[in-house]
Amino acid sequence: MIAVAEAQRLILQHARPLAPETASLGPSALRLVLAEDVASDLDSPPYDKSMMDGYAVRCADLAAGQGTLAVVEEIPAGTMPTKAIEPGQASRIMTGAPIPEGADAVVMVERTAMLDERQVKVDDRPRSGQNICVRASELRRGEVVLASGTVLRPQEIGLLGTVGRSTFKAVPRPRVCVLSTGDEIVEANQAPGPGQIRNSNGPMLAAQTDRAGGVPRYLGIARDNLESLRPLVAEGLEADVLILSGGVSAGKLDLVPGVLRESGVVAHFHKVEMKPGKPVLFGTRGAERLTLVFGLPGNPVSSFVGFELFVRPALRRGRGLGDRANENLSAKLVEDYAYKTDRPTYHPARVEAADAGWGVRPVPWFGSPDLRGLTRANALVLLPPGDHTHRAGQRFPVMLLGDE
Ligand code: AMP
Ligand code: MG
Repeated sequence: MIAVAEAQRLILQHARPLAPETASLGPSALRLVLAEDVASDLDSPPYDKSMMDGYAVRCADLAAGQGTLAVVEEIPAGTMPTKAIEPGQASRIMTGAPIPEGADAVVMVERTAMLDERQVKVDDRPRSGQNICVRASELRRGEVVLASGTVLRPQEIGLLGTVGRSTFKAVPRPRVCVLSTGDEIVEANQAPGPGQIRNSNGPMLAAQTDRAGGVPRYLGIARDNLESLRPLVAEGLEADVLILSGGVSAGKLDLVPGVLRESGVVAHFHKVEMKPGKPVLFGTRGAERLTLVFGLPGNPVSSFVGFELFVRPALRRGRGLGDRANENLSAKLVEDYAYKTDRPTYHPARVEAADAGWGVRPVPWFGSPDLRGLTRANALVLLPPGDHTHRAGQRFPVMLLGDE
């Protein structure tokens, strides 16, 4: 049996970033990790542009705070001005349109009145540059605007569009196969017969995979016999990561470790000193084409916690990311909490903002089968072994159960 930190160290020793590929701009780019520095191919804005609908003017003409100007043309967005503004002149201009030569400010339309087609009365004393967005003030051609290693969110995807990158190099999302095991398990659309229970781990682990940036593929339920398990394991080993739930401890029908071994998977650990979920198997197969294999215990909260502690860091590494930003948080217990356990325990909890920093409150939870209890949690709090009454104000490590 090894400690959680040692297990995580072993996983990160084996996991490695996937090779970058060419990716396309679009919603599928979301959460990809950029694998090149992206430079702008243009100045943005490409010209001094108006930020308002109004009139392009010369400030000197309006030093008195008002004046009447001759309107020489109209400049809609998407067209170029054809006339320079001479003293006493103005051009009608739309938001986004280029500022004509000679003008040094834009007066918003609300501060003006048309006297006729050719004359406008202005009631404003503009300062130089007013309502003008200067060329290249947002982006300069050649400037790196997104660094390699950036996780693409919608705003980064928008910026890739701005700089004309319909394709770019990115680390792909790891392909993750999820396999449930157990003779007693039936799918959610079935009524459980005597001795049967529904499959919670399949959909849950697939959702955890997606949230952690992997692409899940659910393989279904393997029964507790070699004929059923072998081909599904073989299929799962084609992915970057294979996650199994159930069948991993020492019972007579816990066939997963044996089938993995005969399939060429080398186990690096099989038991971790933690609760919930002591039997956790981590193995690898192959070298050039590496598959990481996680055998998680069948009880739903054990599966869940095993994913968060072990699979998620492996997926981050696969995506080319470093450690999670919020990995080593600690929070103060909000009220006294008596708890007895024989192993370090990742207890479902709620973390909330407190006076200074974070407060944590364990939620009611009766152990590894209690998924309902976990739905009240937004974090796990790590409680030490022993029979303790933990005091309000004491600090404990917490792990948030959010994105990324
Ligand atoms: P195992 O690890 O196979 O011994 O399973 C431990 C417990 O978890 C048993 O009570 C199983 O019925 C339950 N279990 C196993 N797989 C699942 C699953 N996919 N969904 C819900 N419960 C499961
Ligand atoms: Mg089982």
